[in-house]
Amino acid sequence: MTRPTQATISAAALRHNLSRARVWAEGARVWAVVKANAYGHGLSSALRGFSAADGLALIEFDHAQRLREAGWRGPVLMLEGAFEPPDVDAAAALGLELAVHCEQQLRWLEDWRGRGALAVHLKFNSGMNRLGFSPDAFRVAHARLRALSRVLRVSTMAHFADADLPGGADHALEFFQRASEGIEAECSLANSAALIDVPSSRRDWVRPGIVLYGASPFAARSARALGLRAAMRLASRLIGVQQLQAG
Ligand SMILES: *Cc1c(COP(=O)(O)O)cnc(C)c1O
Repeated sequence: MTRPTQATISAAALRHNLSRARVWAEGARVWAVVKANAYGHGLSSALRGFSAADGLALIEFDHAQRLREAGWRGPVLMLEGAFEPPDVDAAAALGLELAVHCEQQLRWLEDWRGRGALAVHLKFNSGMNRLGFSPDAFRVAHARLRALSRVLRVSTMAHFADADLPGGADHALEFFQRASEGIEAECSLANSAALIDVPSSRRDWVRPGIVLYGASPFAARSARALGLRAAMRLASRLIGVQQLQAG
């Protein structure tokens, strides 16, 4: 009665890829990115495969809650932060760390009267031009977050647009470096491509996603060449054959 097509997820492959990421990370702690339902692999498979990660990073609050309900006690980073003020309460209740990428999110924290306290990650726009503060606003936002007694820790983060291209992270790194001069904070910058190719981007934490599932972030280098194992196997049954003339 069901379609004969099945995706099988290998927790062993996920574990293997995480250990590959650890080798590249050279001691930096690893946020395993599990957004978008663990890149389509399912949260429960991700939990099994990434139980040795230092933290899990994602976007969806309902999925973060599921991670807690499934027993994950480690750090959880919400990569796009709060979408509305009640998310700040949810973050405090569930022990989630929030990215802060815009003025509105900053105000929500300043106006927050709920219970508890939380850690945040101030996001710098290093050229992706999607989320994050520009240099001057970044420094002001950092000072404002540091002034909040219920913000336990202010880390910094940025996301590369072009780390999969040769030299593609150079400008962004330099830009971040200049903007964060004098700011003492734990920092995470590297996605998969930067983790592998840009050693100076590794910092305190790294944030690989795609490599953990066994795919290469580079057009010209295969997953196999990088020592990765595909975590998903798709199998089906041939249900039809047509005989056609050539052309
Ligand atoms: C998706 C994402 C990552 C992981 O990127 P990959 O290229 O899959 O390694 C890291 N950081 C942020 C903010 C992301 O949104």
